[in-house]
This record gives sequence, C-alpha cells and structure tokens, in this order.
Amino acid sequence: MPVLFENVTAVTMDPARPVLENAFVAVEGTKIASVGTVRPEGEFERVIDCAGKVMMPGLVNAHTHVPMALMRGYGGGCDLHTWLNDWIFPAEARLDDRCVAAGTALGLAEMIASGTTCIADMYMNTETVARTVLEAGVSANLSCGAVYFGDPADFSPETCNDCENHIRLFENWHGAGDGQILVDASIHAEYTSCPPAWAWVADFARAHGLGMHVHISETRSEHETCLEKYGATPIALLDRYGVWENGGHAAHCVWVSDGDIELMAQKNITAVHNPVSNLKLASGVARVPQLLKAGVNIALGTDGVASNNSHDLFEEIKLAAILHKGISGDPAAVSAFEALAMATVNGARALRRDAGVVSPGKIADLILLDFTAPNLFPCHDVLENLVFSARGNNVVMNMARGKIIYENGQFLTLDLEKIRAEAEGYALPHIFG
Ligand SMILES: [Zn+2]
Repeated sequence: MPVLFENVTAVTMDPARPVLENAFVAVEGTKIASVGTVRPEGEFERVIDCAGKVMMPGLVNAHTHVPMALMRGYGGGCDLHTWLNDWIFPAEARLDDRCVAAGTALGLAEMIASGTTCIADMYMNTETVARTVLEAGVSANLSCGAVYFGDPADFSPETCNDCENHIRLFENWHGAGDGQILVDASIHAEYTSCPPAWAWVADFARAHGLGMHVHISETRSEHETCLEKYGATPIALLDRYGVWENGGHAAHCVWVSDGDIELMAQKNITAVHNPVSNLKLASGVARVPQLLKAGVNIALGTDGVASNNSHDLFEEIKLAAILHKGISGDPAAVSAFEALAMATVNGARALRRDAGVVSPGKIADLILLDFTAPNLFPCHDVLENLVFSARGNNVVMNMARGKIIYENGQFLTLDLEKIRAEAEGYALPHIFG
C-alpha cells in the first residue's frame, strides 16, 4: 500500500542531489516509487508529515554477530585473543537455539530503534538467526563463519560441520522473504581454519554465486603469525585459494599491507571498518585514508556487541569521520559525506543490495530522525549534524523494505517485553548461570 512522506528534508546519498528540501518521497511495495519536489499523483494509504525531521537511507551494519547482544559488557579489558579464548568461546559453548533466538531478537531491537535496516551477520545456529530476522523485517546477509580446528590432512566436507551448515543455510534460506535474506559464504578467519576449508568455501561461493564474509587482519599478531606461517598476508593467502572470486566483505582490515589494499581494489573486496570494536580490543585503527585513496569500497560495522558495546551505528559514523583526521592531521581525511556513505550506500553495495540511496527504484529502507531534539538544533548543515551530533535515539521511524517496523518508540514487528523476559528468564541463566 503506497505511503507518502511530505515536507521531507532528505539526505539522499545521491551525489547529484545530496540534500532535498521540502520534498515528497513515495513508497510502493518494497521500493521507493518517486522522489521530488512536486507532489506525486495518486492515492496514498498513509501520508506522513516530516516537518522537523530528516530522512536518510536506513543504516547498513556490514559486520556484526547479533546474538552476542547477550554478552554486552562481558569480558571487558582484554585483547581480542584473550577475550575470545577465556571469555567468549566458553560462553558460546553453552549457547543453544533458544539463546541464539533471544540474543538475535534483542540485538535486532537495538539496531532497529537506532536506524539500521540491513545487516551482515556471521554466527553459529544461523538458521535460528534467519527465522528471527525474517520476523523482525530488516534485510540480512547471513553467514555461518566456517571454522575448522582439526588436522588439515583429515579435512573433508563430512568432518567439517560448517560445510554442512553452509549447504543447509543456502538451500533453506538464500533469497527467503523475497530477497530479505541472502546467504554469504564465509570463513570465520584464517587463524581459525585451514587451506582445505578455504578451498571448499571458495568453491561453494563460486558454484552458487555467493558473496564472501571473512575477518581479516584484525590484530597485529594474527597478521604477522599468518605471514610467518604461510609467507603471505591473510587476504593474499586466501586469494590463492579463490576466496575472493566474487569479491567479498572483509571485516576489520586493520593491519592490511599496501599490496593487500591493491588486491582489495582489484578484486572488489569491501573493507568493513569497525572502529569502536578495534579500539576497545586494542587491535588498532584501520588504514581508512589509504583504502579510500586506492578506491576500495569501505562500509561500517559495529562487530558484536560484546566488543563494542552498542549497536548504534551513529557512533561508528562519527568515529569513522573523526578518528582518521586526528591520526593523519588532515581535517579532510574523511568527509561527512564519505562517513555517511560508508554506513549506507557503500554497505548496501558490499551486501549486493539495491539500497542505501533515496532514489526511485531503490529498496525502501528509510529512516527519519527528529531534528527538533536539543542535540540536533540548530542545524547549519544537515550532513554535519547527522555525522557529528546525531545518536541512534534520535531515530523516530524505521522503514525496512517498504514496511514501517519502528515508529515513535514502538516496535511493530518485535515484542520488547517478551524479548526481555526470554533473555532474563532463559538465555542469561543458561549461559552465565
Ligand atoms: Zn567480528
């Protein structure tokens, strides 16, 4: 049923007309039907007055582990490898489907309320994640993040559970919800698997035309150990096994070399920048100015909430915009437009979504922010306010795939009370005792 937004100040992310004032944006089905300054003809089921509000494309969280919402604040003060081995892996060993469903719903509620409409998630029990995503209404690229700790000589698709998980996830969920869910092939990381697993996942992606989601060069020790062991960086090593034949999205890329950056530009590999998580785990800072200069597509992610500890992408947008200015001494290192592009159109491109731009024909992933809020007033420059002043709780409406799923503090697809009760009554005691 058609919906019309009127009196819109729209940050379109279309370089030809980045900001439209007093505009009309019409939505029909899952798509944006028209964008312009003249009221479109036709009947609308609902007309939404957007005076005092700013519209922008919904945010794309291009690297996360949404069920980890249950581990918010758990294991603070550690580096990545201590945190994973001493805190996270033991807690994850106690997860079951019901915990994963509860964590997914909780994480999605936080994301939806702070303006996210599309995610790339990597986690175990992935079919449970898929079911919850489908109900919540956001788009998601889901992957199971293959790990294999056995002897490489013993590897076979039968001995690697994640091969079976790839097949089942692809057969049951790729394209579900009329494309709401896409399945990506995925290797958790170079250091949690081995060459025959990489070759299998690469073949699987090639055979089915899938995207690829991998953690890459997050810490110095990961990057340098790989160089010592294989004589190649993680991204170049995986390239030898055909992992990037369909491009892909590489989370972190903190320690990538000049050669890696060149390879990423050539192979259409998106760098997913996770500045908060990288700083919290003391992993370092991604080489964003160099990646930008080389023409690498850069998207943003929160990573799991256990290492962030928030799903609010506006924090990542601001940090992506200021961090590299401070380090480089160049106030133009990342512009406000570039930071917003990372969280919208670049993320959509990485996840093969025709979204991230307020333009006719695009998927209607749209959010509204209340610009009468004290932290967004006055507004001398709407892009500056969105990047440096806005927070997730300024979002007053979230429309995903043409359907309003959150409005004025109300969730329309999720039951927050039920989610809290399930987390408190079942999932948290099950995991943490
Ligand atoms: Zn991650």
